[in-house]
Order: sequence, then C-alpha cells, then structure tokens
Amino acid sequence: MLLRSLQTRYIRRMLLPRKSDLIWLLILIFAALTPKALAQEISLPAKLPGQKVIVLDPGHGGHDLGAVGPSGLAEKSLTLALAQEIKDILSGAYTVYLTRDGDYWVDIEKRTAIANHLRADVFVSLHAGGSFHHKAGGMAIYYFCPGTTQGLSLQQEENTVGAIDTLRLWDDIQAVHAAKSKLLADIVHRQLLAKLNPMDRGIHKAPCSVLRGADMPAILFEIGYVSHPAEEKELRDSSVLAAVAEAVSQGIREFFRQQGGCLSARDMIEEDIGTGRGAAW
Ligand SMILES: [Zn+2]
Repeated sequence: MLLRSLQTRYIRRMLLPRKSDLIWLLILIFAALTPKALAQEISLPAKLPGQKVIVLDPGHGGHDLGAVGPSGLAEKSLTLALAQEIKDILSGAYTVYLTRDGDYWVDIEKRTAIANHLRADVFVSLHAGGSFHHKAGGMAIYYFCPGTTQGLSLQQEENTVGAIDTLRLWDDIQAVHAAKSKLLADIVHRQLLAKLNPMDRGIHKAPCSVLRGADMPAILFEIGYVSHPAEEKELRDSSVLAAVAEAVSQGIREFFRQQGGCLSARDMIEEDIGTGRGAAW
C-alpha cells in the first residue's frame, strides 16, 4: 500500500509540473513575446535612414476621460486630435508615432516604453488641465525632475503615485536628458507665445511619471484648461487647435535644428512659406 502510494506520488511529480516550473515557463513566454507584441501593436511605418523619430503621446483614452469641460469636451479627445494634427504636419520630414491612435487606454509606463522601444529622438506627452476652480486656466510645459508632486495637476499627481514603483529602476534615465528636455520646453514655449496669445503658466519642472523613464528629450505639454469655460470654447475651435499644432511642430523642428541636424528639403520649404520669405533656391 505504501509502495503504491509512493509510486503514485512519483508519477504525479513526473507528469505534473511544479509551481516554480510553471512560473519560470510563464516568465520565459512573456519575455519572448513582449518586444514582438509591442512592435506589432505599434504598427511601424517605414523610416528613412537618418530620419528623426518623434513619439507623441495623447494623454488618457478609453475609460479615462481626463478632464472634462463644462460643455462636455473630454481631454482624451482633445489630446488625440492635437496629436493627429501634429503628426500630419511633421510626417514625411520625420517619422512620427502616436502612443495611441484611437479611443483606448494605454498604461502610463507603456507610453514611455513605446518611445524607448522606437528609439525616439523626442517624446511629447499631450494633456489639458482640469480644475474644480473654473477660473483656473492657461497653457504650461513640464519637463522632468524627481521629487515632490507639488505643482502638478490632480491627474498628474495620481499618475505619478500609481506608476512610481514600477519605474523606479528608470529613475535616472530622464535626468541624463534634463538639459535637452529643458531646451525643448523653452523652444516649444517660445513658439507657442509667438504664434498664439495664450494665458501662459510658463515652464515647470515636475516629477511627471510619463516622462520619468523616457530615454530621450521629453516634455509634457498642457494645452489649456478644458474646465475653464472660455478656454474650452477656444479648444473646440479647429483653427485654434491647428495653430497650437503648428507652434508645437515648429518648436520640434527648431529643436532638431539647434541639435545640429540638417533641415530636410520640406522643412526649408515650410520655413520659407511660414516666414513669407519665399524659397530662395
Ligand atoms: Zn491629463
């Protein structure tokens, strides 16, 4: 009887994998599938050799509406519309990806992982502000600094707290790019002030979690407050959105130029049209 019981136990052990084996098997499967799955999900357009890569991150999506204005404008729709406008302007001269191209949610850390996976030269996360104080308004640009969440909007604080543990290993990565991220913020900010007349909240350092693990110059642009009735009305205006997209695009072009890269032929033509100088060649 004892022998039979031992035999049964031995056969079970041989046939049924142990719990630790299953865990290792799952880890190996996950490790093998993740980069492939990520690449498939993002659908890679053709990239010309030497072409700069820009990753735009429309904030929120799916169940996460972001801030919602008094007449119902959702931040998630606004950020996606702005990202698509910027993509339309810059595509061709640059390779441009969106972290989401529809109304669905993407994890905060995955947004940054997409930019790293694609080896982006620039990462721009797009948001809008929301506040219980309907007078709160204005556009702002953030670049990353570790530390307190003071000065962040409510949603950014929530994101920071949620993702801080998973991204701890990457804490120092964005610090390497701090000077260039600040330069990118300065240049985009200047373009926004030149092309629009916004209520300006300026440039801030903040521990935005979506920027934390980005291994390239990265900024978070808050286009305005959808909770502010007048700003919500403006942000619904497609000509305002087009002007903001043009300013951000011009800021990115200018940033690349200051980094020493050559302008593409399309850049030169667009610059000449923009300044009214006319093509000189
Ligand atoms: Zn947001």
